[in-house]
Amino acid sequence: MKYATFIHQGQQLAGTLDPGRQTVQPLAFDMLTIIQKGPMFQGPVLPLSAVQLLAPIANPPHNVICVGKNYHEHLKEVSHTAPSGDSVPEYPIFFTKASTCIIGPNEPIILPTLLSQKIDYEAELAVIIGKRAKNISESNAAEYIFGYMIANDVTARDVQKRHQQWFLGKSLDGFLPTGPWIVTADEVNAHDLTIRCWVNQELRQQASTASMIFSIPKLLQTLTSGMTLEAGDIVITGTPAGVGMGFNPPRFLKNGDNIRIEISQLGILINPVVGA
Ligand code: MG
Repeated sequence: MKYATFIHQGQQLAGTLDPGRQTVQPLAFDMLTIIQKGPMFQGPVLPLSAVQLLAPIANPPHNVICVGKNYHEHLKEVSHTAPSGDSVPEYPIFFTKASTCIIGPNEPIILPTLLSQKIDYEAELAVIIGKRAKNISESNAAEYIFGYMIANDVTARDVQKRHQQWFLGKSLDGFLPTGPWIVTADEVNAHDLTIRCWVNQELRQQASTASMIFSIPKLLQTLTSGMTLEAGDIVITGTPAGVGMGFNPPRFLKNGDNIRIEISQLGILINPVVGA
């Protein structure tokens, strides 16, 4: 099943989506309630062309939980300026983004150019938690996953470094494009998905989720050993190699760029980049 949040005739709704028929079926609840209670159909099927897709979840219960340096090749590309920092982490690196930075498909990423000249993209697989999770094991982690979607962990590299903690440079408004919809876990083999990211026509990132350093079950087991995750929480699982700061010289985002992220089975997320 694929779930989307959208606007139809001025009203924000959630519904199921059929990419083949290009239709959406409105549901009675918002996305967080659907995740907890399941779908209750309401209203006629609509053509996809009659709605505007929004971020599938704009208001998760917590900050969006993120994983740093979770692909070997990405670890190498961001560590060339810090030789001591290039060892494989012994434990997952967790940080968060403020949920207020979430935007949806086709919404512009507005560059805060007065604040940063080094704004970067990070294509990532996002996991949606399906029910309250505490002290779960790797072997039963799958029971707690509602589904998956695409995310772009947009980052102001200069702000990220300036403040030492990554939170601010990762949480600027518009810095988490998500979507275009959620695909439920039963339809996805999350451990072998191909992530691709293009900036304009150029393929910058391409990797399989099979090459994560810490698997999704390992990440969820680690997170929930002492901390509760709730239905609707979002965990983004790290980006593969090919980010702008990995190039020499670096290639940061600029006004007029267009970012297209494709993850097999999950769709395509496109966001234009606009100068402030
Ligand atoms: Mg990231």
